Amino acid sequence: MTPGWSGQKSSNGRPIRLLLAGGGHAHLGVLKSWIARPPHGIETSLITSERYLIYSGMVPAWITDPAAAEDLRIDLVSLADRAGIDCIIGSVVGMDANQREVVLNNGERLSFDLLSIATGGEIDTSTLADLGPRLLPVRPMPDLVRRWPLVRDTATRTPGFRVAVVGGGAAGVELALAISSTLAGSCAAPVMLVSDTEALLPGHSSRARRLAQERLAHAGVELVEGHASATPDGLLLDSGRRIPAGCVVAATGTRAPRWLRNSGLQLDGQGFVSVGPDLRSQSHPHVFAAGDIASWRDRRGGRTVARSGVHAVHMGPVLAENLRRTLRDAGARLRVYRPRRRSLYLLSTGDSRAILSWGSVAMAGRWAQRLKNHIDRRFVREWARLGSGAKGMAWSN
Ligand SMILES: Cc1cc2nc3c(=O)[nH]c(=O)nc-3n(C[C@H](O)[C@H](O)[C@H](O)COP(=O)(O)OP(=O)(O)OC[C@H]3O[C@@H](n4cnc5c(N)ncnc54)[C@H](O)[C@@H]3O)c2cc1C
Repeated sequence: MTPGWSGQKSSNGRPIRLLLAGGGHAHLGVLKSWIARPPHGIETSLITSERYLIYSGMVPAWITDPAAAEDLRIDLVSLADRAGIDCIIGSVVGMDANQREVVLNNGERLSFDLLSIATGGEIDTSTLADLGPRLLPVRPMPDLVRRWPLVRDTATRTPGFRVAVVGGGAAGVELALAISSTLAGSCAAPVMLVSDTEALLPGHSSRARRLAQERLAHAGVELVEGHASATPDGLLLDSGRRIPAGCVVAATGTRAPRWLRNSGLQLDGQGFVSVGPDLRSQSHPHVFAAGDIASWRDRRGGRTVARSGVHAVHMGPVLAENLRRTLRDAGARLRVYRPRRRSLYLLSTGDSRAILSWGSVAMAGRWAQRLKNHIDRRFVREWARLGSGAKGMAWSN
């Protein structure tokens, strides 16, 4: 199946329609590229469930310091506006890649010639759903940000109120430490971190793990190993232990959205969109995907890249360039996304310090948190400047 256009017209003579589904980090790269050089004769629309993209790197800092809210979100509407892109606030709930159609939550059907997907993933809360209102999943992140202040206020006012975080990955560790720091000195019970992975921080070095464990112990966060399921008043571990909790924060890893299942797209074993190193769908050349939604393999089909904001951001310029080339010539040669062998991660530990984790290197200190603040704040503020029309974007296509 090949894209059906030549030049800037589709086969039926109307302008080519490009749909950007989801306001994910990779689409920031497309917005920036379109602002710098708007493509002629292309109708581009961005569909995003929320006006603001929440920048996850800033969430732990915002939990410990609500004043950080101004650096928490990126305004997609103003960026789309500057890029001359029509911004539709709505959620994609279905898609037919063969018919080139996307379905929105209001029932509207949008056709496309070229589609790019950056909706991110969902949180797998299947074993925790029975918690009802006590469950606070980390995604959708805008919901987390809307609901957390009330949980915090309730926790600080209610003697023995326990927050349990489920998930031993980087997000779970950062959130447990940030929440523990915020609730310290209140009448809330100590925060608990429940992890069913053999070791904390999978994918990080043993030294990074040790540093995280030391920090959790120092902060009084109880680390519990086991697989958790929901009870009406908290968690039940596979060991039989019950953990009453007023709020369970689910940081249980990313799963693929269900709406992809009937899309016709080739998906990997876990339901994510299979793309090549050029971020193009393995089955449909007129579909691209990037960020957490994409399952990426290298040229030899061997390596997949970890789901992280770092990759989602770095995929942006490659995605933008490949969309541009495909719009000009459906059969154009495309750029390849080459992930760095090691990515730099800075994990906040809730005490004005952070753990720097880079391959086998791991260090902790206040300087690491200052570096994280600098990188994260600069990132969000540069998008704000671009959205407002001010000059000064640091990274280029
Ligand atoms: C607490 C926390 C801290 C983290 N810290 C880091 C970190 O420091 N470094 C790092 O590299 N990674 C970090 N991560 C991981 C990182 O958040 C993800 O890997 C990253 O957000 C993936 O980016 P994305 O653009 O693919 O998706 P997302 O960031 O999830 O963006 C998806 C966007 O699409 C929109 N959307 C979603 N579904 C739909 C739909 N159906 N229709 C329309 N729009 C939709 C959403 O509103 C959102 O704007 C952290 C994660 C968490 C939970």
